[in-house]
Amino acid sequence: MERVYNFSAGPSTLPEAVLEKASEQMLNYEGSGMSVMEMSHRSPVYKSIIDEAEASLRQLMSIPDNYKVLFLQGGASTQFAMIPLNLMTGSGKADYINTGAWSKKAIAEAKKTGEVNVLASSEDTTFTYIPKLRQSTFTKDADYFFITSNNTIYGTKFKELPDTGDVPIVADMSSNILSEEINVADYGVIFAGAQKNMGPAGVTLVIIREDLVGRAGDNVPTMLNYETHTKAASMFNTPPTYSIYVCGLVFKWLLERGGIKAMEATNRAKAALLYDYLDGSDFYRGTVVKEDRSLMNIPFVSLSEELDAAFIKGAGAKGLVSLKGHRSVGGMRASIYNAMPTAGVEALVAYMKEFEAENR
Ligand code: PMP
Repeated sequence: MERVYNFSAGPSTLPEAVLEKASEQMLNYEGSGMSVMEMSHRSPVYKSIIDEAEASLRQLMSIPDNYKVLFLQGGASTQFAMIPLNLMTGSGKADYINTGAWSKKAIAEAKKTGEVNVLASSEDTTFTYIPKLRQSTFTKDADYFFITSNNTIYGTKFKELPDTGDVPIVADMSSNILSEEINVADYGVIFAGAQKNMGPAGVTLVIIREDLVGRAGDNVPTMLNYETHTKAASMFNTPPTYSIYVCGLVFKWLLERGGIKAMEATNRAKAALLYDYLDGSDFYRGTVVKEDRSLMNIPFVSLSEELDAAFIKGAGAKGLVSLKGHRSVGGMRASIYNAMPTAGVEALVAYMKEFEAENR
């Protein structure tokens, strides 16, 4: 089978050039005589791989010097616990916005540690929008303010950050990291699982402002304390060496293509292809309110569940795969991360037109 256009929400498609490079280097990484998978994480050659990955990421995101970059394990889900364990140590309170299943999981985990104030929610409509926030409701002495910046399942995205004053914003960017320019200094902590826009599953990126490290109590397990990992530069124990290496290749791929600014322009154009078509059609319907639409995850439905099922089946036969929507939303979802070529979105839109013509 030829390579397909893979619209999976994660793990998801990776740049072909990156996979080719990894395959070239599989047996013998740069004359080391071994695969990256086989190297000691303490070897100088591996150190250069992780250091370069961090340097490329710092360049891509213009990460200020007072922010630490960590490559951890446990997925974004472990961050749902690490954030409160490390940060809910002042007033013991935190503000959360409930924009979907991942926010709910983060909220449930934080409640085990302290007082959680859920300031707003869009659960009333199965999370089809980002709720409006009122500053007067923000907890003045909160230890942090938590958002899920892009909601993978529902296809919504925060386009404006709340003004939280001195309260640090913590953002789960699992599904939109590196997709658009952001100002890292607007955040206290940014975290993301790698398996959508960065690389293979198994590594979780954490970007944390230095002054937020070292706040955990003595009861916090060593591996869940950010300080353990900042002190050891992500080498307290064996890091996910191969996943970090592939992320490094993805970061270089992005730099070679003009960095995040250029990627953002491509992402906007790709998303517009699909949204413009959806907006002009009375056969399909995007499920998210226009002003909160994600550039990365685009859910839509057709006229009936039967047609949705036929659409997905027919798409698969054309090499357009993993288009089934999340079970809580139904219909279809096209995840068009950085590595999805414009040609993939064009092929999807062409198929949508064809399917519509045949089935209306
Ligand atoms: N947050 C968001 C926004 C996600 O999309 C996901 C995974 N799909 C997670 C958290 C959970 O990530 P992980 O599987 O790495 O724990």
